[in-house]
Amino acid sequence: MTHILIVGGGYVGMYTAIRLQRKLRAGEARVTVVDPQPNMTYQPFLPEAAAGSIEPRHVVVPLRRVLPKCTVVTGKVTSVDHERKVATVVPAEGLPTSMPYDILVMAAGSVSRTLPIPGLAESGIGFATVGEAIYLRNHVLSRLDVASSTPERKERALTFVVVGGGYAGVEVFGELEDMARYALRVHKGLSAADMKWVLVEAADRILPEVSPAMSDYTIRRLTDRGMQVRLNTKLVSMAGGRVELSDGTCFEADTVVWTAGVKANPLAMRSGMPIDFRGRLICTETLQARGLQGVWGAGDSAAVPDLTGLGALCTPSAQHAVRQAKVLADNIIATLRGGKIKPYKHKHVGSVASLGLHKGVAQVYGIRLRGWPAWLMHRAYHWSRVPTAGRKLRVLVDWLTVLLSRREIVSLGQIQDPRRDWEVVVRETTHSLKGNTRTQ
Ligand SMILES: Cc1cc2nc3c(=O)[nH]c(=O)nc-3n(C[C@H](O)[C@H](O)[C@H](O)COP(=O)(O)OP(=O)(O)OC[C@H]3O[C@@H](n4cnc5c(N)ncnc54)[C@H](O)[C@@H]3O)c2cc1C
Repeated sequence: MTHILIVGGGYVGMYTAIRLQRKLRAGEARVTVVDPQPNMTYQPFLPEAAAGSIEPRHVVVPLRRVLPKCTVVTGKVTSVDHERKVATVVPAEGLPTSMPYDILVMAAGSVSRTLPIPGLAESGIGFATVGEAIYLRNHVLSRLDVASSTPERKERALTFVVVGGGYAGVEVFGELEDMARYALRVHKGLSAADMKWVLVEAADRILPEVSPAMSDYTIRRLTDRGMQVRLNTKLVSMAGGRVELSDGTCFEADTVVWTAGVKANPLAMRSGMPIDFRGRLICTETLQARGLQGVWGAGDSAAVPDLTGLGALCTPSAQHAVRQAKVLADNIIATLRGGKIKPYKHKHVGSVASLGLHKGVAQVYGIRLRGWPAWLMHRAYHWSRVPTAGRKLRVLVDWLTVLLSRREIVSLGQIQDPRRDWEVVVRETTHSLKGNTRTQ
């Protein structure tokens, strides 16, 4: 039986597999999805998860639950030998294995595009996973506790930097500040004026997906809240928590979030496949890898021509990834059955971004919305898009809970390092037992 191997269980991988399992006839092909994570992450909801408006577990979709007819392998594909049609899979635990395939779908998405900035690896954090969202929520709330309890650490603890003004950066900037501002209510002696929020963007504008007017509006709304937006500025160093910007500004900060762009997952490059200047697998408009029989690609890791003429290539976005997955699955089935394959064509409908509770900016089908209406549109759009009815229900209940009761401001800092207290107790007990034995 034909074996279809899907590398990555994110937007493209999961939606392709869902469609294949629904449309494939019995005995026609079997499908394996390999991903280091057992879940697909609905990334547009990560900023709300970080801000506590949505429970983090509700922004991920368990792959094994939605793909009962596929084989899900929790592991990482480290290389592909397409001449032999074999992928090397490193499982979560255990030795690497060789996985033969007939058809390969490259859907490993993107990775953060970083720079060799002193201190970034040690003290910075990205924002693309649910783990990072959980970490940031606890971290930001714990900084308020530190500022309350240790006055000499206040300034540094309450300084938060986000690098990168795309939608991920702007949303996490707006949402986290909104949460921290709310949480400050219970911190006697601290006020919003004590916090310093700095968004650093190398270009001369933020949110390149919306019009310059909407970008300016977003900056005005953020600066009205006392937040700083520094355009044409780069992060130069953050060694030892001392942030240095290219405009000469220096200050100390405990929190630096890096959202300054993404680049294609290096798997295609490592496997000697045809890639473009950004490392993306070069694909045709029918989502086939150029010059490679039986290899398909879509999403952030693929360079797919934009047939609408809006740009040369489709932008890395969930909007394209979901729709490409549908065409990709249909084309694979058409190939298996000797049918006709279709080109991918979708006109980007626009962008919606949340800037905190009841605040937002949206530009969809040319319509521009601001404030409350934009925020509502953001929620309505993403709610309609989050996969599975179960997730939709859970997200709705989360929102209603926040609406009807007060926002949750518990900092579960312990979950960042849950074994620390345990290890201390065990060490102390061992130490005192040894001491007792000696004195007896
Ligand atoms: C915070 C944030 C907010 C966003 N908001 C929006 C938004 O509002 N609108 C929008 O259109 N887009 C948004 N995006 C972008 C959108 O999420 C991506 O464009 C989309 O996820 C791309 O889909 P993909 O399938 O290519 O990659 P992904 O969904 O990232 O999936 C890639 C999968 O591959 C897996 N993988 C990686 N390496 C390997 C390997 N070696 N072997 C096997 N598996 C591997 C990963 O674990 C992951 O599950 C946002 C992104 C972020 C980070």
